[in-house]
Amino acid sequence: MTEPGPALSRAAFDRAAHRRKDPEWLAAAWAGGKLLVVDEERRAVVGDDGLLLVPTGDRPPAGYFLGLDDDGAAVFAAVGELPRALGARPATVRDVGALLPARDAGLLVAAIALANWHATHPRCPRCGDLTDVVDGGWVRRCPADGSDHFPRTDPAVIVLVHDGGDRCLLGRQPSWPPGRYSTLAGFVEPGESLEHAVVREVEEESGVVVDDVVYRGSQPWPFPASLMLGFEARAVGGSLGTGDDELEDVAWFGRDELRSGRPLLPPPASIAHWLITGWLDRTAVG
Ligand SMILES: [Zn+2]
Repeated sequence: MTEPGPALSRAAFDRAAHRRKDPEWLAAAWAGGKLLVVDEERRAVVGDDGLLLVPTGDRPPAGYFLGLDDDGAAVFAAVGELPRALGARPATVRDVGALLPARDAGLLVAAIALANWHATHPRCPRCGDLTDVVDGGWVRRCPADGSDHFPRTDPAVIVLVHDGGDRCLLGRQPSWPPGRYSTLAGFVEPGESLEHAVVREVEEESGVVVDDVVYRGSQPWPFPASLMLGFEARAVGGSLGTGDDELEDVAWFGRDELRSGRPLLPPPASIAHWLITGWLDRTAVG
């Protein structure tokens, strides 16, 4: 049986990217389209059946083209005041990412990632002019020099370190709820391979040297613009200790300990949760 993917990578909706450069099609699609609204805190409205998508109706065209729904309707995203609906409530990806239907989880992270990029990249990095939003929200174009700028995604590695047996290495940041530990993670630096980033980050954060770096899976994490690339790696040396300022503790935990509820794990929407539980399940069989 294929192992289910991380919560936010369960399904890909149809992005219909070839439509982005067709303003006439986009205008017509808007008229019969659906809108996903996220607010400044990047919350969306969620009901029993998933995300609340509202008809675009006679609103003036505004928003980013996410893609096509299962029924062929165009889905757009916009930042604004959240719509109200009976039995629905504002929620964050962290709260509901693992509970949403697969399509909705994909739509929501795409909407948030785009909203975050537009909010922080209004100007041309070449000349400083304000740029125009084109191609359904997937490009910002500079009116002064004609340069195009695309949404950025920052790769970060996240790694479950194990000892080849029953133990895995987890750390905690001071800002987390008491008792919570998670896998080690960090951004990939320019000029660095993913495998090198894994080895470097683990050693920087824990003092542990790893080898046997194996890729497990990825998921978007738009806070603000990360793509988390999940790995497992085996400890082969070094000496345990927090090596930088990010973590206040790092420690080995046995699988029995983890199954008994200690420590607290990160939320189910995170790829860290998926890495840890996936490792636990497989070692249980072996
Ligand atoms: Zn420019």
